[in-house]
Amino acid sequence: MFRQACFDEPLIFEMSREGKVGVLIKDDPMSAKTDVRKGGIAEIPSGVLRGKLNLPEVSQIEVVRHFTRLSQMNWGIDLGPYPLGSCTMKYNPRVNEDLAWLDEVQQIHPEQGLDSIQGALELLYRLDRMLSSITGMHKFTLQPAAGAQGELTGCLIMRKYHERKGDRRDEIIVPDSAHGTNPASAAMAGFKVVEVRTGEDGCIDLELLKGAVTNRTVGLMMTNPNTLGIFEKRVCEIAEVVHDAGGLMYYDGANLQGIIGRARPGDLGFDIVHLNLHKTFSTPHGGGGPGSGPVGVKEHLKDFLPVPTIIHKDGGYQLDWGKPESIGKIRGGYGSFPILVRAYAYLLSMGSEGLRLSCDIAVLNTNHFAKKVSGIKGFAIPFGGAFRKHEVVVSAEEMTKETGVTALDVAKALLDRGLHSPTIYFPLIVKEALMFEFTETETKESIDAYVEALREISERAYTDPGILRGAPTNASVGRLDEVLANHPRTMCLSYRMLSKRGKMQA
Ligand SMILES: *Cc1c(COP(=O)(O)O)cnc(C)c1O
Repeated sequence: MFRQACFDEPLIFEMSREGKVGVLIKDDPMSAKTDVRKGGIAEIPSGVLRGKLNLPEVSQIEVVRHFTRLSQMNWGIDLGPYPLGSCTMKYNPRVNEDLAWLDEVQQIHPEQGLDSIQGALELLYRLDRMLSSITGMHKFTLQPAAGAQGELTGCLIMRKYHERKGDRRDEIIVPDSAHGTNPASAAMAGFKVVEVRTGEDGCIDLELLKGAVTNRTVGLMMTNPNTLGIFEKRVCEIAEVVHDAGGLMYYDGANLQGIIGRARPGDLGFDIVHLNLHKTFSTPHGGGGPGSGPVGVKEHLKDFLPVPTIIHKDGGYQLDWGKPESIGKIRGGYGSFPILVRAYAYLLSMGSEGLRLSCDIAVLNTNHFAKKVSGIKGFAIPFGGAFRKHEVVVSAEEMTKETGVTALDVAKALLDRGLHSPTIYFPLIVKEALMFEFTETETKESIDAYVEALREISERAYTDPGILRGAPTNASVGRLDEVLANHPRTMCLSYRMLSKRGKMQA
């Protein structure tokens, strides 16, 4: 029986008592410099003082225990399967971590002289070459901090490309199955979003697309395999339609896992690509930490890339700022450097054979799961019987109609069984959506156990649905108030205030 570690943990601010400190600073009467209590702060010019900071005052052991307890109440890939569709929640091999924590990586500074960072620049340059060869692109920028920032970078490149041609275009085409960041990034770049509907086979409807393309079309943002996990087989025809109208093809690379080593976006007709290193290339994510969303372009767009790009010249690595057509700088430094180191280590350890195998096994895992789950009462796989790539979207609509148990209830019931929930209610075109992705390191045993949990939940739904609507009861918190949890001010609220169980206790 699964039971999550559960502590009635206060906020660290609630633990604070005036005068408690974590580290004692030596009070040496011979050295006024080491004594911050003797007028140290008084010597700081008032203009740079931040006023009274509301920082918690706690002892060292309290800090250690507080965060260790919180970590025990957390869920991660190291505890069990993490089949969050669209997120490619890979296991992060420890060797990547070891390399990212080398002093040479941790202590590096973007303002260091180039002579002293040749090794780092070489690593970045080689990573650019590897990503270019994996995707069939000409050159990458490693600056963007996430997929969404990569999308914005790509949109700004598209804007500049059309501007340079003296072409006034402002419409970008996005399929209705797209991730929400696609239309958001396009809107940030000043474009109008034109949506195209998904056809019955789960792919872009080519006829509808032809009708949507005009001489105002900036380009098409496309995810392939799409968010249903289905490979868009007509991608080459689609690219032709868009290119014939003078538009560009943008590849949202969040789903690269489904084709890596087997097909290259560049060969499929895409002009711009973003990758999510924190998804496909096995760097940690999920905790809101730094991500990395490199953007690669074909040769005709290379001059628009953000500055500086890293080049290899005269036997050394240099920064190329001399790009008058560049969209400018998109992020400080050269990108999320330790994340780039992890991705580089992952790529070296996998090799091209390993990457292809990772694609094959991820696809096999997901289809094994899809086949089994489609036999469970109440769950169906919409949009026909095509094989899925690395992810599959299951609909619980039938279960909801027949028992009142929703996709949300199923997700919460999984938590009670010690399993991480899938992504739910995305993509928007599937009712009661549950989106699963089992990456290549997942074992058959763990996938089968997951299927059995879903089977048991289905049986419950048809016999005792009320019990599922109260889930989770085994987790550290009950159901969160999701509207409140989405509010920007939530950072100031404790999880206990968000939890219904917490509210009942209060
Ligand atoms: C994750 C994801 C994005 C956004 O990437 P971030 O790195 O989270 O900003 C875009 N499109 C798809 C399909 C995704 O799954």
